[in-house]
Amino acid sequence: MGKNLLQKVWDAHTVRQLPGGQIQLFIGLHLIHEVTSPQAFEDLRRRGWKVLMPERTFATVDHIVPTDDQLRPFRDSLAEEMMSAIEVNCRAMGIPLFDLSDARQGIVHVVGPELGLTQPGMTIACGDSHTSTHGAMGAIAFGIGTSQVRDVLASQCLAMSPLKVRRIRVKNRLTPGTYAKDVILAIIRRLGVQGGVGYAYEYAGEAVEAMSIEERMSVCNMSIEGGARAGYVNPDSTTFEYLKGRPFAPSGAAWDSAVAWWKSMASDADARFDDEVELDGARIKPTVTWGINPGQSVEIDERIPSPSESGADRASIEEALQFMDFRPGAPVSGTKIDVAFIGSCTNGRLSDLREAARVVRGRRVAQGVKALVVPGSKQVRRAAEAEGLHEVFRGAGFEWREAGCSMCLAMNPDKLVGRQVCASSSNRNFKGRQGSPTGRTLLMSPAMVAAAALAGEVTDVRKML
Ligand code: SF4
Repeated sequence: MGKNLLQKVWDAHTVRQLPGGQIQLFIGLHLIHEVTSPQAFEDLRRRGWKVLMPERTFATVDHIVPTDDQLRPFRDSLAEEMMSAIEVNCRAMGIPLFDLSDARQGIVHVVGPELGLTQPGMTIACGDSHTSTHGAMGAIAFGIGTSQVRDVLASQCLAMSPLKVRRIRVKNRLTPGTYAKDVILAIIRRLGVQGGVGYAYEYAGEAVEAMSIEERMSVCNMSIEGGARAGYVNPDSTTFEYLKGRPFAPSGAAWDSAVAWWKSMASDADARFDDEVELDGARIKPTVTWGINPGQSVEIDERIPSPSESGADRASIEEALQFMDFRPGAPVSGTKIDVAFIGSCTNGRLSDLREAARVVRGRRVAQGVKALVVPGSKQVRRAAEAEGLHEVFRGAGFEWREAGCSMCLAMNPDKLVGRQVCASSSNRNFKGRQGSPTGRTLLMSPAMVAAAALAGEVTDVRKML
């Protein structure tokens, strides 16, 4: 019986079994940012420890970065404090930092892959839940907490419990107007927000194989929203083409041996999985969340569920309906929006902006809607500008911002106000996620956000393509 990619990566990185049964796993790449690292460095200093492998550690700034006025010191003193802390810590510990003056700055999960730091067969850790993004390249990537950030800084290892693997096959190609975001929302709806607990998700099937690396990143990014500890796609020719020539990717003879090793890490044809699930990509439609977790979604032509339809979920449906101010049985299409946000580590890459711009070109944002596009990195921003996408967005009435997390988490000046409703290409629709405790988030693909911005309400993007 063959092995799957997770088992191979796990075996290759196991240092030893710990007395409690966990595995000490070597971490190939540690990505850090300004929010979850200050306390970790502080703790390290207090114990008199050093960063063991600064050459395997890279830092960027993203969460607290203002996306309009980036003059220092920032107006928010806490943000300024975090920014200064990462500057001081990285300088002291010899860690490369992609700060605001660096052309490589951006959201940590956008920067790692685009620089070629993220590679197949690696173990990756980062103090951010959406680290699973890096699995799109065939890496096993874990989001970790602050004390684990300290542990990885000090030892380049993590204590991890073994994971089961569920293969999720998405057969058949997607239809026009349906995107990677719709696929992952459909998966989470089907399996539930807790369905992946104890698992890593392996995404496979024709729809996934046909996706670009950026699309695969959108899928892997939200694995954590389905409860999975990690998500990945087996490396293939799409992966190798994406990586070739990137600044940190191997080159010359090292490239050939790297590709040979990467291929060997893919799941074997006869690999065993703990569970298998199949979806039909051709049947997935543009999807929108109506509730307060990413599993509460409907397709654009469906109606919002009623608590009476679902025994077990009754309480959470009731809570969501009340918070979101939705009537059971109402269509999601036609829901008025106040804000449209295109960005985040789920959907702030060049291909996302291209798809959104395709919808926006030659049209105008509806009156009263605040619409913003926030590229995931400076590199994405420059590439989009080289194609003139910023002019398409600005011409339609969108704000064109600097790179950062922006309204995904609103730890910066980009926030919802009061009961505003936001069509968002981000990954979480929890209460208060976008900065206002009463603000309401509807997750959808960037193209659907663009369509909602133009219509002033949730609408089917397929009518605008
Ligand atoms: S964009 Fe959102 S999910 Fe991604 S790293 Fe930033 S805050 Fe976290």
